[in-house]
Amino acid sequence: MVSRTTDDYQALVMAGCKAVCEPAFWAGFDRSSVAGFYDYYRQLTEYEPKRAARYYLPHYSWICINPKEAEDLVFAREVIQIIPKFLEKETVLGVGEIGLNKNSKNEVAILEEQIQLALDHDQLILIHTPHLEDKLKGTQLIVDILQQDPRINPNKVLIDHVEEHTIRKVIEAGFWAGITLYPESKCTPPRAVDMLEQYGSSNHLWMNSACDWGVSDPLSLPKAILELRKRSFSEEEIDRLVYQNPVRFLKQSPKFKLDI
Ligand SMILES: [Zn+2]
Repeated sequence: MVSRTTDDYQALVMAGCKAVCEPAFWAGFDRSSVAGFYDYYRQLTEYEPKRAARYYLPHYSWICINPKEAEDLVFAREVIQIIPKFLEKETVLGVGEIGLNKNSKNEVAILEEQIQLALDHDQLILIHTPHLEDKLKGTQLIVDILQQDPRINPNKVLIDHVEEHTIRKVIEAGFWAGITLYPESKCTPPRAVDMLEQYGSSNHLWMNSACDWGVSDPLSLPKAILELRKRSFSEEEIDRLVYQNPVRFLKQSPKFKLDI
């Protein structure tokens, strides 16, 4: 939402959206200083909740350094140092989106350090998986890293951007899976519903709208609801997928206030 106008908040409310959850991620360019991240985290935790509140829309966020900017270990560790104070903010739900981009050694190191950060502060974890040809390998690597640590409760981890070849792996390992919707490339609403028809809808699955500075659409989720209706999913099933499942996951954070 940091790269969106308030028109989008209004459109979300009018489409029936009850809350927005915005992960810290790549801004389209690499930030040059720790102060750049500090300001970004302030924007996510102070400014956006106020902007959304004008439309009576609760705004929550996730804080981290994203994998795309995690290649410089010294820099990434300096950024990680400033994260704990933001995890205490009343609208922050956890650490995310951490994960992998190119599956590099340095990305893995920073992923592991931010998992540790989440464990130290008893936070939910939101994971980004790489796109295109790196996705299968990256998802497997992430699942392996998480499963090697017995302190991690898979029920408190959501692995996002799953596709046909990764959804089963994530859900069968006990994690939550997110399908991220895009208007053109990657996963469109019809493709997402194809996945749901093929694999069935799990209690550990949700969909989210990609919403950023590029080609994306905050109303992808309402459009996916229309697609689900066209394909004869029941209203109960749709409600579970797009509302109850995310609320059940997010309510594991005591800060998340919506009820089922
Ligand atoms: Zn992502």
